[in-house]
Amino acid sequence: ASNARHFTCVFYSDVDRQNLLSEQDMENRMHGALERGEFVAYFQPKQRLADGSIGGAEALVRWIDPVRGLVPPDDFVPYFERNGFIINVDLCVFEQVRALLASWIEQGRQPVPISVNMSRAHLREQDFLTPYEQIRARYGVPASLIEFELTETLVFGDPETFMGVINLLHARGYRCSLDDFGSGYSSLNVLKDVDIDTMKLDRAFFSAGDDAGQREWDVVESVVDLAKKLDLGTVAEGVEEPGQAARLRAINCDMLQGYVFSRPVPVAEFEQMLFGA
Ligand code: C2E
Ligand code: CA
Ligand code: CA
Ligand code: CA
Repeated sequence: ASNARHFTCVFYSDVDRQNLLSEQDMENRMHGALERGEFVAYFQPKQRLADGSIGGAEALVRWIDPVRGLVPPDDFVPYFERNGFIINVDLCVFEQVRALLASWIEQGRQPVPISVNMSRAHLREQDFLTPYEQIRARYGVPASLIEFELTETLVFGDPETFMGVINLLHARGYRCSLDDFGSGYSSLNVLKDVDIDTMKLDRAFFSAGDDAGQREWDVVESVVDLAKKLDLGTVAEGVEEPGQAARLRAINCDMLQGYVFSRPVPVAEFEQMLFGA
């Protein structure tokens, strides 16, 4: 029996080593990976509930490692938030999104707004917007086609700083959404102080799937009503069941983003969904 346990341990630690990059691995490889273009934006479409059309997308980074294949963001974003490298990754995603929007405009295609995530690591830098503006200057794309997704954890309960960031982004013409609203980290208070454009309802609201009861739906409906009252767009995240989509439509939520419509997909697949051929 003790032998069996020994083998089990060896087995699991080998699996871990194959699938997870150690912090040392990431530290060693991250700069080269950035230069080689291994940080690739995938796109998860947002579906308008009123007519089923695609109303935009969120850009979500993947690390396409030549040895390990596709590494999901949960395996490296938290570490890069700690060592500050996420700033480079966010800028790289922003640049891919600007280039994509510019190519659509050049081809005479009708663009949809794309959102990008902004980590709180940026705020440790003075003039954190300057590198964004340098990238922006290279592509003739209206700023209003870009939306920054920010979480309240960005500033840990400091509404003045949060407000300052939103005001700066608005002054440059960008749109702003409050990400993960209703997760453990957000509070109603921020809605009173901060002039955001869109509220993204956290996927925790929808985790019960079709088993959710009237009580859960009463909460969702109240949040959507509150957002409407404040003139905010609403996006429901992490929706997996068609029944949930139908109920969201019935309570006039604007858009959904979830596996029920599409997973995050590579750019070519997203363009196929948007434009056909
Ligand atoms: P997030 O910003 O809340 O992004 C939404 C996450 O929910 C994505 O995970 C998406 O694939 C997932 N999701 C969407 N619909 C469903 C669904 O129906 N069911 C389930 N179970 N999940 C769904 P992803 O792509 O793995 O990203 C995880 C997190 O990593 C993101 O959460 C965000 O916090 C972070 N992240 C991703 N890309 C970037 C980036 O470019 N910059 C920064 N700073 N963070 C990023
Ligand atoms: Ca997000
Ligand atoms: Ca989110
Ligand atoms: Ca999140």
